[in-house]
Amino acid sequence: MAEIRVEHLRKEFGDFVAVQDSTFTVEDGSFLALLGPSGCGKTTTLRMIAGLELPTGGAIRLAGEDVTYRRASERDIAFVFQLFALYPHMNVRANIGFPLLAQGVPKAEIKRRVEETAKLLQIDHILDRPVSGLAGGDRQRVALGRAIVRRPKCFLMDEPLGTLDAEFREVMVRELRELHNRIHATTVYVTHDQIEAMAMADKIAVMNHGVVEQFGTPQEIYDRPASMYVADFIGSPPMNFIRFNGGLPRGARIARIGVAAIEMPELREEVAPGDLALGVRPEHVRLVESSPLRGAIYGSEYLGTNQIVTVETEGGLVRARLPADRGYTIGEPVGLAFKSERLSLFEARSGRAIR
Ligand code: ATP
Repeated sequence: MAEIRVEHLRKEFGDFVAVQDSTFTVEDGSFLALLGPSGCGKTTTLRMIAGLELPTGGAIRLAGEDVTYRRASERDIAFVFQLFALYPHMNVRANIGFPLLAQGVPKAEIKRRVEETAKLLQIDHILDRPVSGLAGGDRQRVALGRAIVRRPKCFLMDEPLGTLDAEFREVMVRELRELHNRIHATTVYVTHDQIEAMAMADKIAVMNHGVVEQFGTPQEIYDRPASMYVADFIGSPPMNFIRFNGGLPRGARIARIGVAAIEMPELREEVAPGDLALGVRPEHVRLVESSPLRGAIYGSEYLGTNQIVTVETEGGLVRARLPADRGYTIGEPVGLAFKSERLSLFEARSGRAIR
């Protein structure tokens, strides 16, 4: 049992609030991604969980026990940094076995556990090679091996794939998730890359200026973003926002944008008059001949399996992900239609989703 619970966690550096009132639970054996742009407080949150930074408020519980003020070495946690310093003069075997050697584990037991770990990571064929000549992906596997050989209850990873090139990253994302499926260690993974987070995590905490804006499964966060910030951060290209002005009664199913009446999911609350934004993912936009919502082709980007077509409308640019079997000419007039059940509605000023 290695549930991590973060309760009203707060960290100030002088006057600056780096983490503000964060509360979430990482269930035993699950994988959480802390996602957000540079400076939003991900690393600080992770360092507090690890015991490398003391919170200025709130609590951290590991398997139900309050460890808020316990030293890092007294928490059964392994921290994998981005630039994991391998010992360059040692071979792979010695690098992976080092933490066990430091703990005084008997030689035969070290050999057994290093070989078992290397097999799990598919690096058993390079155990006797020096680490200095290894490629990036193998170095990262050795670093992971060194972290998992101790069999910690929890893993904390801070952008562990940050230095790898795109191709290796993709492979490692898959490998990390497969490794997690095999060893089921509770994991907190810091990344600014939404694709990594979506591909690996059971739950994602999207952070913004020290605040967890939304906590949920990748699908919940993608389909029902809690704010325009989350909607914009997740998805590539991001969600389109079509601004309009209006108030809407409770139970409304139509938003009026200019002369167009756009169907949307039934509103559960009344919306006071003001600036609103309709949110629609590019894959839920269709181009049709007749629609009161009109625009002109602004550009297109061919992606092989599909294309991203940008349309200039009165409410701004709208991107559509469309089949690549038809070309469009710039300036060509088009009508827009949306999958009404997939629309989101936001209060534009606060960015908050209206449900
Ligand atoms: P990055 O990916 O760039 O590391 P992050 O989301 O992990 O971003 P943090 O490293 O947690 O962000 O930093 C959050 C904020 O706290 C930043 O503005 C940073 O400058 C500030 N900060 C972090 N550590 C300290 C410190 N020791 N003293 C003062 N400010 C700090």
